[in-house]
Amino acid sequence: MAKTNEGRPSYDLCGGHPALDFVNSLNNRFRENGPTELLTDYADLLRFMEQTKLLDSRQVRRLASSTNPGAAVRTLRSAREMREAMAAALYASVDGRPPLATDVRTLERYFHSASGHRELRWVQSGKSANGQPGLGWDWGRFETNAELPLWILSQTASQLMMSDAMQRIRACGVETCRWLFLDTSKNHTRRWCNMKVCGNRMKARRFQARHEE
Ligand SMILES: [Zn+2]
Repeated sequence: MAKTNEGRPSYDLCGGHPALDFVNSLNNRFRENGPTELLTDYADLLRFMEQTKLLDSRQVRRLASSTNPGAAVRTLRSAREMREAMAAALYASVDGRPPLATDVRTLERYFHSASGHRELRWVQSGKSANGQPGLGWDWGRFETNAELPLWILSQTASQLMMSDAMQRIRACGVETCRWLFLDTSKNHTRRWCNMKVCGNRMKARRFQARHEE
């Protein structure tokens, strides 16, 4: 059984997209004395999924009670591996470089796995995307599998990374932070992940610099 979530802080979802918030779950990624892991166990992963609304509370409760410790450890490890391949590719893109082939292969493996764990179903009118009866994909019988969070995150990542939104992904201007976010500002001028955290930090630094001149 996974641990309860009591007393744990909530995730800062300032990335504007769940896949970017997921990358940001390795905090201070570029800090000299090492990053801080915010996904410490499977319960954290479930908590992240619920906060980003990728899973609802009913699905989270079911996974928390049905997942055995071994599957929880394996899923967390895979989720972090997928996250790091995504992070490497996204930071390369932000810096104007192509990603390494090895990271693309890792993503390919997880994206394939996600699409291989969906059921094809006949959807009645009203429940389909266009309101007409037809075939549609859903998680179906895979919904109770411990790896569901991993597949959903992989699918979310693949949708983002193959969309036009890729052009609007930026890294926070604070060097130790560099959290990723989707710049949806009118003039594409957003510079900080979270104005309250990094924006203020930079403003304070500039204020200090001015007064030291
Ligand atoms: Zn920041």
